[in-house]
Order: sequence, then C-alpha cells, then structure tokens
Amino acid sequence: MTSIAQNLQTVRQRIARACVAAGRPLDSVRLLAVSKTFDVDALRAAAAAGQREFGESYLQEALAKQQQLRDLDLVWHFIGPVQSNKTRALAESFDWVHGIDRIKVAQRLSDQRPARLPPLDVCVQVNISGEASKSGCAPAEALDLCRAVAALPRLRLRGLMAIPAPARTDSDPRLPYRQLHALFETIRSAGIALDTVSAGMSDDLEAAIMEGSTLVRVGTALFGQRTKP
Ligand SMILES: *Cc1c(COP(=O)(O)O)cnc(C)c1O
Repeated sequence: MTSIAQNLQTVRQRIARACVAAGRPLDSVRLLAVSKTFDVDALRAAAAAGQREFGESYLQEALAKQQQLRDLDLVWHFIGPVQSNKTRALAESFDWVHGIDRIKVAQRLSDQRPARLPPLDVCVQVNISGEASKSGCAPAEALDLCRAVAALPRLRLRGLMAIPAPARTDSDPRLPYRQLHALFETIRSAGIALDTVSAGMSDDLEAAIMEGSTLVRVGTALFGQRTKP
C-alpha cells in the first residue's frame, strides 16, 4: 500500500518534471487535491504532508468535511457543477468556485458572498471539447461571460477551467489544453486580468502543464480509485 504522503510526493515530482520540460518555473503550477468521496482521514493525511488546497464536487459531503476539519487551515475549492440552489452555501463556505458557466449563478454568488469574507475566487468553465452533455460555456461565449463576471463586486475572476473529453488514442492529448490556453490569452489581451488556468487531472497533468496550466486538479493519483460515484 502506498501512502497518501508518498502519492503526494510522486505527484509533486510529476508536476516539477513537467515544469522543467515546459521551461516553466517550479512554482508556476499549484496542486489541488481532489478529495471527493474520500473521508476526512484521507484529507488529514494529505494536510499533514503539507497539502493545503482541496477540491470537492458534492456540496453536502464537502460541508460535512469542512465542519470536521475546522481545526486545519485549508483552502476549499468547489469543482462540481454550480446550480442556482447551491449558490448560497457555496458563497458562504468556499474560497474558490471553478464551475461558473452562466451569468445567473455568478450574480447569485456575488450577491450572496458574506461581507465578512474576501471576494470569492472564481473560474469560468469552458466546454473546450464541445461535448453536448458537459457543463461549461461555449468557447465563443467565454470573453463576454468573463467580462460580466469580472464586473461583479463580490467575485474575483481568476481564470478559466476545463474538463476536456477523454483523449482518443489517435488525437493529440495536448490539443484541448492548447485551445484553452489560447482562449485565456485572448481574454487577457482584451484587458481582463486572469492568472489561473485550471486544467489537468491525474492522467494528463503533464499535457496540461506543457500547455500552460497553472492549477492541476488531482484525485485518483493522490487518494486512489474512487469506489463511490
Ligand atoms: C474528480 C475530478 C477531478 C480529479 O480527477 P482524477 O482523474 O481522479 O485526478 C478533477 N477535476 C474535476 C472537475 C473532477 O470532478
């Protein structure tokens, strides 16, 4: 059995190697530990090994873990789909929300962010592979949505997030990440400040880093296979 601490070391090494291969500074990519479906003991083990940022996809599960881990100084990212009925809890309990794909939920998050907390860090999710079933705005809509989100007083727009379709064996695994980064640059050249590309998971973090990802979301490689959905 490999331990979570060992897995963390391995993933940090993969990130470091990819940064070297890409000619990027080692501190230009941060690691988000995706802990959905894993219990608080797993999060504690990762936190003891120095991991501070955790990503969760299921609201009720995440809120329960936050309660149980109040003694730790963790940064919580919500990476699941954002429905209107979840926005109040997200605005009150998270540091980041990655799945903004329409102005309505962004407006609600801004309205509902408590005054005692700093603005909520958010990413606009882009459906970079154009999958019919996936959340995320169309790439052609991303600039307008970013402009609108950046204008909301209680949100801080940080960047773009994507979950590409699984790469076919005959396709270039870096292509969706290259497209995402090109969109990121287009939006920045339009004068909108962005510093985050949230892209890359356990199986393809190297491809994402080669194409400019600044935040990789890694679950399986840290915590093991998920048995629950
Ligand atoms: C579950 C999940 C991940 C982590 O995927 P792994 O393949 O386990 O690393 C990353 N991003 C999102 C949005 C997820 O839902």
